[in-house]
Amino acid sequence: MNEHYPFTNPPLPYPYEAMEPYIDTLTMHLHHDRHLQTYVDNLNRILKDYPAYHQLSLEELLMYQKSLPPEIQTGVRNNAGGVYNHIMYFSCLKNPGMEEPPHPLNQMIAKYFKDYSGFQTEFTNAALSVFGSGYAWLVADAFGRLLILTSANQDCPLSENLFPLLNLDVWEHAYYLKHYNERAAYISDWFHIVNWDQAAANYQMLFP
Ligand code: MN
Repeated sequence: MNEHYPFTNPPLPYPYEAMEPYIDTLTMHLHHDRHLQTYVDNLNRILKDYPAYHQLSLEELLMYQKSLPPEIQTGVRNNAGGVYNHIMYFSCLKNPGMEEPPHPLNQMIAKYFKDYSGFQTEFTNAALSVFGSGYAWLVADAFGRLLILTSANQDCPLSENLFPLLNLDVWEHAYYLKHYNERAAYISDWFHIVNWDQAAANYQMLFP
């Protein structure tokens, strides 16, 4: 994501119905065309009168958020986060998904979470533990170690110097039409459509 101001909403890398039956077509339309679009529009509006920051990428805005003018810090945090987090979420979906991460990410998953099943349990518990709106994440720290964490709202691990590999949006708008209030059912469906190749590519880009 090397894009900078004015930011645009990239098309989904697959048809809206591609995640059926795990994520319904209407949810994908609303989530991409309305929710993500709103974050893009808000971010552009916030940055409009701040040309000094028009060359910064989304990643840079999030990493250097605390050095921005105080009056736009919260807006950038929420909206650059909203854009980055959603682009990552959509890019990490693939149907049919993959049973397990490819080599060598599978070995790292085994190292930090015992095995893939241990990862699934820990990631599921993290996603269930988000109170209200937020995300569960698989991230790497600066040494390449893997961690599972959660964030509230549209906060992004990049702002804490952690590097996202994979995320799961657990805002209700991501699943309410199909799964109603059953977040656990949504999480379990999501495990059928994880794009592990993308997560592995995200790691490879950081630690070639
Ligand atoms: Mn969302």
